[in-house]
Amino acid sequence: MNYYNLHTHCTTDDHTVGIITIHNCLIGRDRPDGFLAYPFFSAGIHPWYIENVDKQLQQLETLLESHAQLLLIGEAGLDKLKGAELSLQQTVFERQIALSEAFEKPLLIHCVKAWDELLALHKSIKPRMPWIIHGFRGSAQLAEQLLQHGFRLSFGTRFHPEALRMAWPEHCFAETDDASVSVLTVYRQMAAALSLDEATLKAEIATNFRQLFTL
Ligand SMILES: [Zn+2]
Repeated sequence: MNYYNLHTHCTTDDHTVGIITIHNCLIGRDRPDGFLAYPFFSAGIHPWYIENVDKQLQQLETLLESHAQLLLIGEAGLDKLKGAELSLQQTVFERQIALSEAFEKPLLIHCVKAWDELLALHKSIKPRMPWIIHGFRGSAQLAEQLLQHGFRLSFGTRFHPEALRMAWPEHCFAETDDASVSVLTVYRQMAAALSLDEATLKAEIATNFRQLFTL
């Protein structure tokens, strides 16, 4: 049984047997060529790094067309504290939602203080593909609201235990994001928060991961 790291910008677990890692390529910031050797990766236009929209979208589409190991679109989303103007962020996010639906790839979402906008988009678009909030640090109340709408939550080194308990068992994932730690550390934290043995957590996250990608 493998460990699964849904989202990382680091190479901490590389060459570690038994850990499946999805490396994240930030379009416009990272060179996509560097990701093609990975067994799996994700790619998207982050709201902080919107520069040349048409070029970035073209780059993303080319990657989607030619690389089956691109499993997820993202990080994509909305951030009211940083990045491009919100209306532009929204446009770029909607274009990536369309790609997620067209290429049948789940969407990995970065959302800061824009939950109402995110929920409104989800309600109006009614996507067929899963939407996963990455690095979820919100409250149990927010978690409950998102879960009611069908969102899934990915947890990193910092999270509210009650929010994790809401998402457990079938709606949660583990990730390390930009922390230079092994995903095993996050598993340990999650198991402690859920008062579970690690084997149970490991089995459930493996099931969730395989369901997400029908692997
Ligand atoms: Zn990230």
